[in-house]
Amino acid sequence: MSTETLTSYAGSFIAGAEHANGGAPLAVTNPANGQVFASVAGASAADVDLAVRAAADSLPAWSSLAVSRRGAVLARACRHVEDHLDELIPLLTREQGKTLRDSRIELTKAVDTLMHYVGLSKALRGAHTPGLDPGVDGYVLRRPLGVVGAIVPWNFPTTLLSNKLAPALIAGNTVVAKPAGTTPLTTLRFAELLSEGGLPDGVFNVVTGSGGEAGDALVRHPLIRKIAFTGSTPVGERIMALCATGVKRVTLELGGSDPMIICDDADLLAAASAASMGRFYNCGQACLAIKRLYVFESVADEVIDAIVGKARRLKVGPGDAEGTQMGPMHTAGGRDELAGQVSRTLATGGSLLVGGEPGCGPDLAADGFFYMPTVVVDPPHDSPMAVEEVFGPALPIWRVRDLDEAIARANASIFGLGSSVWTRDLGRARKAAERIEAGYTWINSRTKVYDELPFGGWKSSGYGKEHGEEALDYYTESKSVVVSSGA
Ligand code: NDP
Repeated sequence: MSTETLTSYAGSFIAGAEHANGGAPLAVTNPANGQVFASVAGASAADVDLAVRAAADSLPAWSSLAVSRRGAVLARACRHVEDHLDELIPLLTREQGKTLRDSRIELTKAVDTLMHYVGLSKALRGAHTPGLDPGVDGYVLRRPLGVVGAIVPWNFPTTLLSNKLAPALIAGNTVVAKPAGTTPLTTLRFAELLSEGGLPDGVFNVVTGSGGEAGDALVRHPLIRKIAFTGSTPVGERIMALCATGVKRVTLELGGSDPMIICDDADLLAAASAASMGRFYNCGQACLAIKRLYVFESVADEVIDAIVGKARRLKVGPGDAEGTQMGPMHTAGGRDELAGQVSRTLATGGSLLVGGEPGCGPDLAADGFFYMPTVVVDPPHDSPMAVEEVFGPALPIWRVRDLDEAIARANASIFGLGSSVWTRDLGRARKAAERIEAGYTWINSRTKVYDELPFGGWKSSGYGKEHGEEALDYYTESKSVVVSSGA
């Protein structure tokens, strides 16, 4: 068994330089073998204050640049990050657990998102209303909010950061980000690379630390004008309540339990493939993931067989091993929680067709956080896997009579993040798209997120939008301006 070497990190990246934090250290663990390989000093409230003040100091110069100039600066910094992808990819795999292939996909997407908003920096136009009164015109000015706090979870540390950083910076804000306590390293290096690539000091700062200490200090800081948060629904609700003080702006990308509906006229093999990819990608730890599958009775056996076959064939292993298709879960706690949800569900009913156990075998370190791809069929509709968010590689499947039942079941959830429907009937597709309560509906498509389209959860899955031109609205204030020519 390999033994990890322990490296210590000072913690924060503030005003273009490493900053030694004063808070309690965080251990960073390799999920493939359960070994701690880094210790990162956590930020205290005083460290967070320093970062926010650095961001506030850099605000006047950054926000007064022409928007296209901000885009050009960010583009150059991005290209520097891109030149170092081969360094970032193994680092992300080591701290997060995902396969090297998935780390490459994630980091490439993180850079793409930054570049998407660089592109928009040359395309922004505003509103103008001529002739409000004789000789009087109106226009709408958009101004940056100020210092934005970005709080990011561990499942996609860099893309979920870019979703916030890109529109925030292009709109002229400055940013202090707090990565998850378990995945600080790629984010710290990402910030350092952007800085080396020419992003001015203080425009983007990172504070490491726990959510309860560093995250809380960031949310409460009086100079913060907005919190952009991705994470669990309970923490999102707490942050929203805290942001009431000072009427801080907030966007929340929270938990989900995305339904997928497969009708009897669908391309069944393509749908089964999308279900398998949508559930087992990133070891099932994605907000947008197929978490409940409803399939028409008449085709259910064929679909279930295809998905179970795929689950059996998936190669589970360490993220950095050749041929691995699914890595370990991120933490032992997450794996235990998933195992508990599966066993509590099976205690109430349903059939376990594959998986339902931690991974073991010659290729898997005994102390790694592996959990095998799992499929459970027809558990009760009030069982844990039906009503809770399942954040790991376990898929519950239900047989349904028709589309009306499927949509009713799909909507019987506190969540409303993503959803998908597979059918060749345009009428059915349209009905599902109109009736499913969720921020995204994919029709005959894998659950891929596009920078071009706004995305945000309904119900307990969130508030506000990321992606699309719409994201910029969440990083600016509008002001109506009336101009009289004196005529
Ligand atoms: P958490 O809500 O526990 O953590 C998310 C982030 O918030 C982390 O950086 C965490 O820090 C921080 N945090 C925790 N407590 C506080 C606090 N009191 N004040 C301020 N910050 C805090 O989520 P998980 O880590 O469990 O992430 C998984 C969840 O995220 C799932 O529910 C998933 O669905 C959701 N998610 C949603 C997405 C979306 O776009 N809608 C995308 C990806 C995930 P620390 O880790 O140090 O505690």
